[in-house]
Amino acid sequence: MAENESSNFIYKFIDEDLEAKRWGERVATRFPPEPNGYLHIGHAKSICLNFGIARDYKGSCNLRFDDTNPAKEEQEYVDSIMEDVLWLGFKWDNLYFASDYFDKLHDFAIKLIREGKAYVCDLTADEIREYRGTLTTPGKESPYRGRSVEENLDLFYRMGKGEFPDGSRVLRAKGDMASGNLNMRDPVMYRVLTATHHRTGDKWCIYPMYDWAHGQSDAIEGITHSICTLEFEDHRPLYDWFLAQLGEEFPTPPRQIEFARLNLSHTVLSKRKLIELVKDSYVDGWDDPRMPTISGFRRRGFTPESIRDFAGRIGVAKKDSLVDYALLEHCLREDLNKRAERRMAVLHPLKVVITNYPEGETEHFECVNNPEDESAGTRMVPFSRELYIERDDFMEDPPKKFFRLGPGREVRLRSAYFITCEKVVKDADGELVELHCTYDPESRGGASPDGRKVKATLHWVSAAHAVDATVRLYDRLFTEENPGVEKDGISYLDKMNPDSLTELEGCKVEPSLSKLSPEERVQFERLGYFVADRREHSAEKPTFNRVTTLRDAWAKISGK
Ligand code: ATP
Ligand code: MG
Repeated sequence: MAENESSNFIYKFIDEDLEAKRWGERVATRFPPEPNGYLHIGHAKSICLNFGIARDYKGSCNLRFDDTNPAKEEQEYVDSIMEDVLWLGFKWDNLYFASDYFDKLHDFAIKLIREGKAYVCDLTADEIREYRGTLTTPGKESPYRGRSVEENLDLFYRMGKGEFPDGSRVLRAKGDMASGNLNMRDPVMYRVLTATHHRTGDKWCIYPMYDWAHGQSDAIEGITHSICTLEFEDHRPLYDWFLAQLGEEFPTPPRQIEFARLNLSHTVLSKRKLIELVKDSYVDGWDDPRMPTISGFRRRGFTPESIRDFAGRIGVAKKDSLVDYALLEHCLREDLNKRAERRMAVLHPLKVVITNYPEGETEHFECVNNPEDESAGTRMVPFSRELYIERDDFMEDPPKKFFRLGPGREVRLRSAYFITCEKVVKDADGELVELHCTYDPESRGGASPDGRKVKATLHWVSAAHAVDATVRLYDRLFTEENPGVEKDGISYLDKMNPDSLTELEGCKVEPSLSKLSPEERVQFERLGYFVADRREHSAEKPTFNRVTTLRDAWAKISGK
């Protein structure tokens, strides 16, 4: 068992069921997304849980599309969901669609009608709601509840043939209108809906409701543990009831287990809101690196390993909570610190001329690729008379605590030389143009020649060898910790961070960086982790996204 997951309550239930041999030795789970949007980090939690259980118990996990609402579902979403699950590192044992079971579900419904357990109801949606009652008042029976089996069969067939307009009739189960659980008050099983389905086309004009489709689909696939989020806790009696009505078909029905959904700080995970962000162009598509979608995290540069690690660490609970985004970044930093090679890149270039360095000469310094991983080796980085350093690493009139470059000061250029700033060159408007420095040839490789110390080591790039790059700096998409909680009529859209994206052109990066493949990640020394953009990076137009800075806010919060 995976160490973080083994202690959760779901594993305890499964252990109990295995002990009782409820399904023999079998453990079968499924991940059941509705293809009405891209997957987000909350889904990643569910994926890691379901596939993780299959892995830990040597069981199976299906990917099943819950495609029962053709009005909202599209093939593009199906494709993206499969891609995301695979990218996260999981392989489904079987790929299914709830629509594979439309015929069976239809047969089951007819069985219920024949047994007098379901009826066609002509109330409008509003009337159904009104008749349903509330938590404190019992419901009223529909006047159509007493229809004969023959009439119900006839009407249901005709619903299926498209004889009635959308919304005019539904098939309902005969539950209990006095039940304390509203879901049991004659739940709707089918509705009339004229829409072309992304897989079944125009074959159907009635579609099963979630509650009718879900449990039966689980049972058809032989799922043992049907894991879902807490909002379905109240649906469990109905889940069990439907399966009980099909008793001989499913002698050992699946067990539904609920857990708390993930909420992540400074973002929203509701599909409706994510769709709105995309459709109304608040972001640049589903995989915008600021989106909390799996494809967004991927393009941002997160690794699947870090997301799986995160899912394991947050664990599984019965109570909703808000997880700090900083924890996810912490998982990422731990992963990339071990794996990402170091490179030098200057985001806000300031030219430095080493006046006592021979013109036209180039030498190469051997730089360690990753101090955390010896096997990553070294690379040769060119050095010449003109360099770029970070604009922020120089101050003309430095305050006390500023240890980097200033007039008359000496610093180390990483792996190269000690340099001293001799002259500050400005243009006619008094704007800083470049610095003239001298170097100490004795400090070759960055070592102190005589024990004298410098207080700062700067990153740099040789001007003659530098490659121009576009670099995008990302910040959180929302300024508030929990933007989805809308109070006083203030929409989550009003809480968007206006500075969530800064695009820098003309950054100067060491030549090896243009050779990165899209999605390759590196650490720009002193600046953070960056990834070559999945879509736009090329050797001709190097384009990088900042995955995260090097400051670990989580370590601070957690006191580690
Ligand atoms: P919708 O708003 O469309 O119902 P959903 O977020 O429930 O969206 P589904 O496609 O139905 O999306 O979800 C697939 C699976 O992922 C479900 O089992 C669901 O419980 C789980 N899931 C969805 N959101 C989260 C979340 N934030 N945390 C954990 N699991 C989640
Ligand atoms: Mg759902």
